[in-house]
Amino acid sequence: MQGAWVLLLLLGLRPQLSLGTIPVEEEDPAFWNRQAAQALDAAKKLKPIQTAAKNLILFLGDGMGVPTVTAARILKGQMNNKLGPETPLAMDHFPYVALSKTYNVDRQVPDSAGTATAYLCGVKANYQTIGLSAAARFDQCNTTQGNEVISVMYRAKKAGKSVGVVTTTRVQHASPAGTYAHVVNRNWYSDADMPAKARKEGCQDIARQLISNVDIDVILGGGRKYMFPKGTPDPEYLSDATQNGIRLDGRNLVQEWQARHQGARYVWNRQGLLQASQDPSVTHLMGLFEPGDTKYEVHRNHTRDPSLMEMTEAALHLLRRNPRGFYLFVEGGRIDHGHHDGRAYLALTEAVMFDSAIDKASQLTSEKDTLTLVTADHSHVFSFGGYTLRGSSIFGLAPSKAHDNKTYTSILYGNGPGGFALKDGPRPNVSDSQSGDPSYQQQAAVPLQSETHGGEDVAVFARGPQAHLVHGVQEQSFVAHVMAFAACLEPYTDCGLPPSAGPNDAAPPGPAAGPPSLPLLAGALLLLLAGAAP
Ligand SMILES: [Zn+2]
Repeated sequence: MQGAWVLLLLLGLRPQLSLGTIPVEEEDPAFWNRQAAQALDAAKKLKPIQTAAKNLILFLGDGMGVPTVTAARILKGQMNNKLGPETPLAMDHFPYVALSKTYNVDRQVPDSAGTATAYLCGVKANYQTIGLSAAARFDQCNTTQGNEVISVMYRAKKAGKSVGVVTTTRVQHASPAGTYAHVVNRNWYSDADMPAKARKEGCQDIARQLISNVDIDVILGGGRKYMFPKGTPDPEYLSDATQNGIRLDGRNLVQEWQARHQGARYVWNRQGLLQASQDPSVTHLMGLFEPGDTKYEVHRNHTRDPSLMEMTEAALHLLRRNPRGFYLFVEGGRIDHGHHDGRAYLALTEAVMFDSAIDKASQLTSEKDTLTLVTADHSHVFSFGGYTLRGSSIFGLAPSKAHDNKTYTSILYGNGPGGFALKDGPRPNVSDSQSGDPSYQQQAAVPLQSETHGGEDVAVFARGPQAHLVHGVQEQSFVAHVMAFAACLEPYTDCGLPPSAGPNDAAPPGPAAGPPSLPLLAGALLLLLAGAAP
């Protein structure tokens, strides 16, 4: 093999690259020295923003482990006609990064319910339970009461901020439910999904808690069927009875929610969303765009269904009217579903759209007054390897064959639906056109109906006031505490932080640049006082 390379080099030939060409300047050390000098310069200039945050945004990529972030970066770069790995994602521009340990109290490899409790409420919890401490037991209704833990979103609302939840899953799904629900079983979406015993014992389904626990100003995602009485036809699928409402208690939760606020608007398609977000008379907005989860980005109807980026933009338009600020939770919830399905194309295209929503929010907010975090609840057993050539499709094949003399894809899963049982015969060969198909299921070592989560740490990216606290290796529950502290919410109302500068304020003047502003003086005084305390 080495001999062949030497021969190629002697002949002045290079191995064939599949996509684009490697820029010739990358062969010159000066290119990398220049690139690093710029990065070093930016790092030296980086200054922590020491004020409080007026606004909080948490972007949650469900199942977006670090391998998914890297693969999404390559895909997004390639979608923009770049080689891929060198082209930064929007989240790559965030100046601070930490690792988050994702385990549940009772599971080494976690689920999205126990993890949501950690990063939204600040307390680690048990597998499949939401908004409850680890003293609560899965599926045991009578362990709910007294074990509730309170989300940062709820605390933000209590402090007078507007709050919103945006997701590509049903809004009653585990991650968004962590902002408002307390439930021992994440599958209790509606009363029809609960055992009669739990209903009798007084436990409430998640949809009911959605409209009664926290007064949420903006709710966008899927999940219509859990909100309407059994048999209510769905407005989008009128003739499909499987999409009808399923509630057994006969309640119309959308109507009940609307009746609470004069400016409350309910929409169920993209046009309704775009209109409502521009209408100043709308103070509260609920948009439910599918009976269950929203469609994958690659299957989305671009006129009827809003993208995650459009939902994020609409939410920000409404929330940022509040002079006291806002809390927004945005979930790219179907990255996880694509992986469970063993279809990396679905997962990675969801992750690319998730990053576009981050980009949009970064444009619509200022790091001077908005703390934005991007993280994941857990990883997946997704990997990519095989020494692929730079610029080759992320969905493509490794350049050499495996020991069984067959081709293999760069992307593989540790387990999942792409697993081939020994009884089915030898591992199948795979062609480039097969592996590039959006519905292709990558091979997996162990056959399972649904691919599993991964147990390794996930990244937390941070930008804005107090973002510098996001460092090192932390428990996942730290995420909620950083957000609560940055906005001086309970239990950090004595945070001692000066209020944030407005997005249009000039940077606080340095010692030689003129007299310090009044808020700056007040902040300095507070810091002095805090330092003087015993
Ligand atoms: Zn999952």
